[in-house]
Amino acid sequence: MNAPQAPHAQNVVRFANLIGDQWRPAREGRHLSMVDPSTALIFAEIAASEAEDIDLAVKAARHSFDEGAWGRMPAFERGRLLSRLAQAILAHHDELAALESRDCGKPLKQARSDVTATARYFEFYGGAADKLHGDTIPYVTGTTVLALREPLGVTAHIIPWNYPLQIFGRSVGASLSAGNTCVVKPAEEACLSLLRLGALALEVGLPPGALNIVTGTGEAAGAALTAHPAIDFISFTGSPEVGTLVQQAAAKNHVGVTLELGGKSPQIIFADADLDLALPNAINAIIQNAGQTCSACSRLLVEKPVYDTVMARLATAFSALRVGAAEADPDCGPLISARQKQRVESFLGEAHQAHLPVLARAHLLPGTNPNGFFVPPTIIGHVPPNAHLAREEVFGPVLAASPFSDEAEAVRLANGTDYGLVAALWTRDGARQLRIARAMRCGQVFVNGFGAAGGIELPFGGVKKSGHGREKGFEALYEFTTTKTIVLNHG
Ligand code: NAD
Repeated sequence: MNAPQAPHAQNVVRFANLIGDQWRPAREGRHLSMVDPSTALIFAEIAASEAEDIDLAVKAARHSFDEGAWGRMPAFERGRLLSRLAQAILAHHDELAALESRDCGKPLKQARSDVTATARYFEFYGGAADKLHGDTIPYVTGTTVLALREPLGVTAHIIPWNYPLQIFGRSVGASLSAGNTCVVKPAEEACLSLLRLGALALEVGLPPGALNIVTGTGEAAGAALTAHPAIDFISFTGSPEVGTLVQQAAAKNHVGVTLELGGKSPQIIFADADLDLALPNAINAIIQNAGQTCSACSRLLVEKPVYDTVMARLATAFSALRVGAAEADPDCGPLISARQKQRVESFLGEAHQAHLPVLARAHLLPGTNPNGFFVPPTIIGHVPPNAHLAREEVFGPVLAASPFSDEAEAVRLANGTDYGLVAALWTRDGARQLRIARAMRCGQVFVNGFGAAGGIELPFGGVKKSGHGREKGFEALYEFTTTKTIVLNHG
């Protein structure tokens, strides 16, 4: 089986697993079809791996950590290899963007920015590899105490389909930088860019077994990986439901886990906000990646005096949005699958039954393939705080708007869901900016701006049902290491 290349438009290309430095089909020889979300056509196949394939990958990673080149490599050399991978990603920018765009149904400009962010992760973590160090601790006279920061061993990475490249960069980049070896189980809906990254990692000289990528379903390959007794840590990004299963598997083996789950994040717009700045951000925060973003701001809370003005301006802007196939580089592409489309439409159906007003709805570009998984961006107004639309993650381009009367009500509504991932706040009042930012129960707050183009340096993660543990920045390196204390008694 060949190393993966970008698939030709007319061909169904078959991809294998990366185990050690070999490309191997699943041992049972089964495959899964990859579907282009813009057309619903099959364009590639991936290995449908099972527990046996996972076991081989974990053994390769274990060997690389315990006895192989990666486990013995000095930190600065690890960093150099990760920096080389960053350069290789930039050198293959167009190819990776085209692959990610087709696989996920992402508009090309979004896929391009994802590739750039992924390279940044490997630059950042490449540079950090030899700057992560332990400590000495003052203790009783006659002793010297060292607190060493050590890698955990073999880390498992379960990746979702919405941002395969970026989520790979932030979790695998940090783990490798800290000296671990990795087994990655990408999402079965979209994972071709990660297989291509695996090939690039070998080309730049990553030693065999440092990075292993095994594709397959969550139920077969994912569950086998999280339950494997030789795994030392699990990094999971996905839904809260699967997050619970992953945490249970981690508990059985007594290993640590970071859970990056969903969100129902608010944008709060006060009457004194600069609307020319706030509104384009509010739109982008819900249409980016067709709303399939864990940090999407899917709730818009607007102070009553400007509610009607904001809705009128958003309606005009939504009607001008270009919705269509990923390769046409529209403002909003399709959803990932028919199943996801159905889920989003069921939220819209429920809103319709509850007589909630549709304030705006975008249109498909003429000639858009009717088989693609499109749901035009939609704003639903006056959504009450107890509605499913105000409480549950839709994971589609549906904005739930609600008015509020004062600061106290804004905070109550913003914090009033089971999730707590990010929040955005628009006001010119400096004291209010800090008061509200401090009152938010979530992992990141943006004031008079939104989004961080990856935000590689910025610790990211949730509270409540959005999960626990932090990724990105130096915080991720602490998650992927453990402290060993050595007490030297020398008199
Ligand atoms: P999902 O939980 O169904 O799948 C995520 C990954 O878990 C996939 O690789 C899947 O194969 C795997 N998986 C499924 N069942 C498994 C099992 N039993 N054991 C182990 N692995 C299993 O989620 P999804 O539908 O792929 O992604 C959408 C969800 O992910 C949304 O809720 C979204 O908010 C969340 N998400 C969160 C973040 C974040 O950073 N917080 C980022 C992206 C997506």
